[in-house]
Amino acid sequence: MLTGASVLPLLRRTEVMPSAVSCRICSRKFPFQSGKRVCSKECRNELHERLKSMDDQQMNMLPLLSASPELARRFVGKPEDAELAYLIKTDAPPTAVSFRLGCFRDGPRPAKHPRMRWFPYLIFRNPPVYSLVEWQPVHVPFAGNYAVAYFDDKCALVGPPKFFIEVRKPNAMFNWSDGDTSLLIRPLR
Ligand SMILES: [Zn+2]
Repeated sequence: MLTGASVLPLLRRTEVMPSAVSCRICSRKFPFQSGKRVCSKECRNELHERLKSMDDQQMNMLPLLSASPELARRFVGKPEDAELAYLIKTDAPPTAVSFRLGCFRDGPRPAKHPRMRWFPYLIFRNPPVYSLVEWQPVHVPFAGNYAVAYFDDKCALVGPPKFFIEVRKPNAMFNWSDGDTSLLIRPLR
């Protein structure tokens, strides 16, 4: 017979912590440890790659920003990247002074965990950004749609990318695989 006082200890006894849990990657069982989701360093790396790839694929669904026909007409006879420069500058947040362009690899070879690469990258330009203030032709590995990421004067990202933009003239000087897998830049000191 249970009295009110004895109910609590009884309940406590049934609240057992799980002693073994399944690895999210390989399903192997491992001893429960708060916050631990995978069994090994290898599975941790695999989970990391999967999550990064999912983030990039999410970003790949951002809308494509393009000029209306009326706006596009204003750039007829102007330099080839005038429209691109206008769109990138016009949509920049107030604190942005530079930008990077990112995309997935072009072509049929599927990667296990597809990632975006960002341009410019450090060896090509330091800091690895294109200036909004003094516009120069951008270099990307191929013509196509690129996510636009804006940075402030400390090279800190100004919010997450919001749109893609079509680069018609890539001025290619490097390969896609040269690009940076990390969108963020080590801030300037
Ligand atoms: Zn595992």
